[in-house]
Amino acid sequence: MKSLKAKFTLTTITIIFLSFLIAFLLSNSYYQQKLKPDNDQKNTEIALQMVQYAEKEQTLALEDYLQHIASIGYHLMLIDEHGQKQFFGDPFRDESLPEEIVFQVINGEVYHGMALLPQETFVTGFFANELKNTIGVPLRNNEQSYALFMRPNIKLLFNEMHILFGLLLFLTIALCIIFVIITTTFLIDPISKLTRATRQITDGNFSIKLEIDRNDEIGELAKSFTQMAHELGQLDEMKNEFISNISHDIQSPLSNIKGYTDLLSKEALTETEKLQYTKIINDEITRLSDLTKELLLLASLDRIENLLKKKPFQLSAQIKELIRHYQWRLNEKGIMISYSLPDVTVVGDPSLLYTVWDNLISNGIKYNKQNGSLEIIVHEENDCVEVHFRDSGIGMTIEDIGRIFDRFYRADSARTRTIEGTGLGLSIAATIIKLHDGQIEVTSSKEKGTHIVVRLQKIVANK
Ligand code: ADP
Repeated sequence: MKSLKAKFTLTTITIIFLSFLIAFLLSNSYYQQKLKPDNDQKNTEIALQMVQYAEKEQTLALEDYLQHIASIGYHLMLIDEHGQKQFFGDPFRDESLPEEIVFQVINGEVYHGMALLPQETFVTGFFANELKNTIGVPLRNNEQSYALFMRPNIKLLFNEMHILFGLLLFLTIALCIIFVIITTTFLIDPISKLTRATRQITDGNFSIKLEIDRNDEIGELAKSFTQMAHELGQLDEMKNEFISNISHDIQSPLSNIKGYTDLLSKEALTETEKLQYTKIINDEITRLSDLTKELLLLASLDRIENLLKKKPFQLSAQIKELIRHYQWRLNEKGIMISYSLPDVTVVGDPSLLYTVWDNLISNGIKYNKQNGSLEIIVHEENDCVEVHFRDSGIGMTIEDIGRIFDRFYRADSARTRTIEGTGLGLSIAATIIKLHDGQIEVTSSKEKGTHIVVRLQKIVANK
């Protein structure tokens, strides 16, 4: 059996029948232990009262009297000393009865056929219309000894009730099955929808719309599932973007290198041209090397959390070193740099944080205007150390700001396209800051330029 729905329906129906069987066995045990002897006793008392009345009213026509009793709702058999039988009321289904029982009853004993009925008859023994399942009492009438065997006529007593009970039982079972099927559908359908959605995802379709509006666990599952599908879709998009970006970023320096090496090997070139081509090749190799380094760094950052080599270090000294490093590029672009770098000690991974400042300063120069300005300020704010990078560069749109921390994202402006870059720097910076439980914030406009603030927890106070 494959479908969950069928399994669920079958299990519930099995449970219903099992409960029914257990209930039957329990009620049977109750019948055997309690009802059977009680019933026997009750009927013995009735039989004895019948006999008492018949014996008291000797003028009474015994047959008429018994006929009358039978019409109220009893099966009766009267047997005399000669074995002459007379039946009153509906016939017994089974009229067999050992002779010695008849003999004993005629001789004054009471026969407790109802209590003596074997265990195997279950609760149905209550209804067994047999001569053995009777109460036998001695009766004397007109100097004659008789044995009177009686049992209630269940059919008559129950009248239409047994049809009603049968109908009730049938309806209960039928309704149970119908409700089980309905509730199963209600329970299982969302799971089937989820299964179909999972298949859709496997086929690469991440735009899933699950029509499951419930407040229970399945509703929660559906919500998480839709969320997961959405994120998987984004991841897939990023993966595709990543592949196309990486292919492009590797392919273009490679074709440049190939082109210029071809030129170098074939043409008769002047010394200046040779030097120029070698420089281009060298630049492209550096670009490729930077790209692979960044990619390696990004991949390692994803797993590095527990491997951070944190220690106290001088933050401002690190930034000053970088400014010295970039001095020639600042001069080249005529950028005026101003800074306020008081001595601050922070605890963190120095080499990773170095990469962050490196990226932010290099961006502040790359995306700056000719003769622009770059301001770097370190300052302490309560428990934090803030590092501000404010440039007077090309700035970004709101949409760009929302995406610059995505891997490979580069603003699509004509100016950005002319600037070298991989789109990985800020993504790396943000990951490192996150690993240090810090924050990075960007405000930017095309008119005023960009302002980036990095906030780190200050672990050691200023010395
Ligand atoms: P890359 O500089 O290699 O392109 P980044 O991740 O460092 O990659 O930056 C992502 C994008 O964010 C850049 O391509 C650029 O469009 C934008 N950006 C980053 N810093 C600045 C800045 N200071 N001014 C303007 N745009 C910036």
